[in-house]
Amino acid sequence: MSSPLPMAWPAQVTLCEVGLRDGLQNEKTIPSVEQKLRLLDAVVASGVKIVEVGAFVHPKAVPQMADTDALCRAMNKVDGVEYRVLVPNLKGVQRAFDAGLSKAKLTVSASEAHCLANFNSSPVKMVEGFADCVEFAAKNKMTLSGAISTSFGCPFQGRVPIRQVENVVDSFVKLGVTELSLSDTTGMANPRQVYELGTHMIGKFPQVRWVMHFHNTRDMALANIVMAIQAGVRAFDGAFAGLGGCPFAPGASGNVASEDVIHMLHEMGIDTGIDLLKAMDTARLAAGFVGHAAASAVLKAGRCADLVKEKAQGQDNK
Ligand code: ZN
Repeated sequence: MSSPLPMAWPAQVTLCEVGLRDGLQNEKTIPSVEQKLRLLDAVVASGVKIVEVGAFVHPKAVPQMADTDALCRAMNKVDGVEYRVLVPNLKGVQRAFDAGLSKAKLTVSASEAHCLANFNSSPVKMVEGFADCVEFAAKNKMTLSGAISTSFGCPFQGRVPIRQVENVVDSFVKLGVTELSLSDTTGMANPRQVYELGTHMIGKFPQVRWVMHFHNTRDMALANIVMAIQAGVRAFDGAFAGLGGCPFAPGASGNVASEDVIHMLHEMGIDTGIDLLKAMDTARLAAGFVGHAAASAVLKAGRCADLVKEKAQGQDNK
């Protein structure tokens, strides 16, 4: 029988900022390279240590990422910060290397139906095809991680069975890629499912450094993060201002807002190493650049701490 919840809470959790990539890639208004550089500087100044700055994908497919190369060449790299890009194949890894990056994230869908529809291949075959990327990375002292999209559900297939995700993880591990992100691309994950998949994967693959990536499409992202922490996951992606949307649901919410995650964790006594007020300023900046309101509870309502302070001041004035 599994142990009763809650287990002890960790002292620290890592937040990876993916706003520049996943957040912006669904936006109609594309910020300029200069604006992206300002966002990147703000993210790093707030204390974030892992930033996904863009993607080396086909510019026709994702025009929002067409300037990733220019951004990578112009950015000011701060020691101790990991700058990574998302790539679909060897060409992407090579472009990342040419742009001076040492980290790239390979992406594949866990869903057989999704892979077949889009690439005429199975997820496992696609990961096996990454062998050339691994060889190139080893030769050029680059690190690769893997992102498994639609791990919790897929619009083509519905719920993706654990066994299917496990096969994809296994293929990555066999290639020597041991940092893996399980992504809820379309916001279909629920907390119980996250706990079950998380405990299963951590038990089966203890050598993997796990990251989880939630979209807040149906308002379940924070609950999912809490349950993932209970399962033992210690790293999560978030996007400033909750940007991102869902490719299958126009108008839907995007990635879980980084500042909401940071706020929740700090309220729970879990450190992120990130300055929340600065993260909130970054989110406001991002919302200004894309020209619409942030999907962020803490930007709308303020921090819990702000409320307490305002109330105390109000009482003083009586
Ligand atoms: Zn995503």
